[in-house]
Amino acid sequence: MIGAGIAGLLTARVLSDYYEEVMIIEKDELPQKASNRKGTPQDFHPHRVLPRGDIIMNRFFPDYMEDLFDLGAHNAQNDKVVNFSPFGTLELVINQRSVASSRPLLEFAIHQRVQQLPNVRFLSRQSVRGLVTSDDNKQVTGVHVKERDGEKEERSIPANLVIDTSGRYSKLNKRLKDMGYNVPDQERLQVKFGYSTRYYLVPPHINEKLSGISRGVPEQNIGSVGLFYIENDMAQTILFNAGGSNLPATNTKDFEKQLNEWASPMLNNLVKELEPIEDPRGYRAAESVRQHYEQMESWPSGLLVLGDAFCNFDPIYGQGMTVAAIEAEILANCLKENTPPQICFERQVLQRMQQAIEPAWWLSSIEDLRWNGVEHVGSVPLKGVSFAQKYFNLYIKHAMKQAKEDNNLSMFHQYMKMNGLIDSPSEIINPDMLNMIITGDESAEEEAVLAELGEMDMNKMQERLNELVPSFSLAFDEKVTDLFST
Ligand SMILES: Cc1cc2nc3c(=O)[nH]c(=O)nc-3n(C[C@H](O)[C@H](O)[C@H](O)COP(=O)(O)OP(=O)(O)OC[C@H]3O[C@@H](n4cnc5c(N)ncnc54)[C@H](O)[C@@H]3O)c2cc1C
Repeated sequence: MIGAGIAGLLTARVLSDYYEEVMIIEKDELPQKASNRKGTPQDFHPHRVLPRGDIIMNRFFPDYMEDLFDLGAHNAQNDKVVNFSPFGTLELVINQRSVASSRPLLEFAIHQRVQQLPNVRFLSRQSVRGLVTSDDNKQVTGVHVKERDGEKEERSIPANLVIDTSGRYSKLNKRLKDMGYNVPDQERLQVKFGYSTRYYLVPPHINEKLSGISRGVPEQNIGSVGLFYIENDMAQTILFNAGGSNLPATNTKDFEKQLNEWASPMLNNLVKELEPIEDPRGYRAAESVRQHYEQMESWPSGLLVLGDAFCNFDPIYGQGMTVAAIEAEILANCLKENTPPQICFERQVLQRMQQAIEPAWWLSSIEDLRWNGVEHVGSVPLKGVSFAQKYFNLYIKHAMKQAKEDNNLSMFHQYMKMNGLIDSPSEIINPDMLNMIITGDESAEEEAVLAELGEMDMNKMQERLNELVPSFSLAFDEKVTDLFST
């Protein structure tokens, strides 16, 4: 593995069941306690694991949540979460044991579990500088490494399988081109997103933890705000927007001004009760990139890629670690079915991983494309953007109404399951649901959906939806308990 981030750690766990020796090469010194690292500059910012990711991580590392609690993570059970959106405010209660921590604490807990695996070895402060290949470049047989900050010469380490888990700034695309491969164009979401995060201490008099999410209003360039509780009586506040203008400030004065303008007054007041620890810090990225290595007719044997190096996302939707977990699980299934690995094994794995990436990429792109200045660039246009944006507006409006008027969270939970990558978007976009949310109320949201659907035969609704939105395969049949109650 190249890189000991979340993707590298999960992959090592999978490989440890199938290979005699697994080595994770990491350019950073790996910390002896939870702390920020240079190689993962995103780790200062809030990281949450989506429900599907949590289930998979728990399969790989049974009761990993308990490790996190032992390390001081916050148990969010019974916390209230207030959702502020243009469709109203909804206050929910987390009704089950639920862990909330910083990214360094999460990574540290998983790292400790991986360290306990007898056949996994970490090689830290070593930077991978290139791939070792056969003379015809058809096979990857190892990596070239160099000690970071050291005087020693570059050396090579042989391997039967090399997996690039080096994250968002992976050099794999260039390396493949240098090896003479015809690499397909990447899909790019030119998202120009900005994050700004500030840490606070929660004063002892605050007993009831009330976290909040104020959903941004892209049409008015009003950013999103989130307040989350983590380990050791700390909280994190984030400001987020996309599109490249009016990005979240990283100086305290402007941060507070934007917080005031973007957050609902209630959320803003909650933050004011907390004690800031330090100035806010930012993270900005021009684009999210999805590689299409699975389309390559020839691919070197002995090489795979996983995590952000394969596809990275706008992080506001919290998908990256969960997609890495899904990919690691796909790899586990492929290894199980193909022991020892068959010819073309790597391409099959990449193809299956790409299918799993599809719904996450589509869902986050649909939301990001609401912001002015965000563009999708790819050889094939993204299907169903305008329809899905309008459909989800109408869906959320009904879900909020159902929750507030009937005290019924079923539509809301269904939406959460889709965004938690448990259910396919087709669980929400289908003729039965459409019939339910088109009520003839002549609202702007309903008219917008009807205009997108156009003239159609009501008996052929599924065909019309197939024309409008992609089909997804997100097979997952585990029963999931609803997280919230009112
Ligand atoms: C601001 C922000 C907030 C985020 N919030 C969330 C969230 O809430 N939920 C979520 O699921 N995801 C979130 N993500 C995404 C998440 O960080 C990644 O998807 C996740 O960590 C998986 O990434 P990875 O392991 O592929 O890469 P990384 O975690 O970035 O790890 C890559 C590793 O490779 C190492 N490395 C790189 N090059 C080399 C080399 N040449 N040699 C040796 N080692 C090397 C690096 O040092 C690093 O340790 C967020 C991202 C950002 C930017």
